[in-house]
Amino acid sequence: ILEVKDLHKSFGEQEVLKGISTEVNRGDVIAIIGPSGCGKSTFLRSLNLLETPTSGQILFEGTDLTDKSTDINVTRQKIGMVFQQFNLFANMTIKANIMLAPVKLGVMTKDEASKKADELLTRIGLLDKADAYPAQLSGGQKQRVAIIRSLAMNPDVILFDEPTSALDPEMVGEVLSVMKELAEAGMTMVVVTHEMGFAREVANRVMFINEGTIAEEGTPEEVFGAPKSERLQEFLSRVL
Ligand code: ATP
Ligand code: MG
Repeated sequence: ILEVKDLHKSFGEQEVLKGISTEVNRGDVIAIIGPSGCGKSTFLRSLNLLETPTSGQILFEGTDLTDKSTDINVTRQKIGMVFQQFNLFANMTIKANIMLAPVKLGVMTKDEASKKADELLTRIGLLDKADAYPAQLSGGQKQRVAIIRSLAMNPDVILFDEPTSALDPEMVGEVLSVMKELAEAGMTMVVVTHEMGFAREVANRVMFINEGTIAEEGTPEEVFGAPKSERLQEFLSRVL
């Protein structure tokens, strides 16, 4: 569904991504781990061109996103994104947040989007918050809403950038369990995370990024059970 070929990204003089090649297949749940500043967010944001690659190619369902003639807005409808800071619109109700993209982009009528929003809110047990504003929700509730908001567009893949890092510890579990349910329902997901338990339990592939390259990649058993490189061993000894 996604194919990345020799992706490079520099900010000025600093080369942050130094040639990343990989693919994401339908149904994959990929956990991206690695030290702070190694380029995880830059990589994830490149996948839907929130960052413009310096060189290399990103193919989404066969379309080259780096090709100037590609309409990235069409592609972005199929690539959901969930951020650390929720990014809900503060001046809109929860339900309006969820309905916004599908209605604005003409994918659904208001009635259809409303029905979909109710359905999704029911799924995470927050239908009673439909008319509340983001400020009235806990961090965990906001992040669960952000997740279903991305689902409202029926994306083919969802990118998560540290979705639980801004949460109080007691709210991490409720967000991870929504993500786990999504994974079990077959959603394709790429998740930058510090939650090694989630990576181990839910991901089918774990990617260790270090200094702008994929330093090691494998199943959770391989990466956590038998890390090959010294750098990964050292990283795991600090985070586990
Ligand atoms: P963390 O775990 O702390 O979130 P990360 O692996 O996500 O780190 P990135 O956010 O991808 O790391 O950043 C990688 C490097 O690129 C950092 O040195 C950062 O300062 C730099 N960088 C990221 N975005 C920009 C930008 N817009 N302009 C300039 N430099 C940037
Ligand atoms: Mg980051």
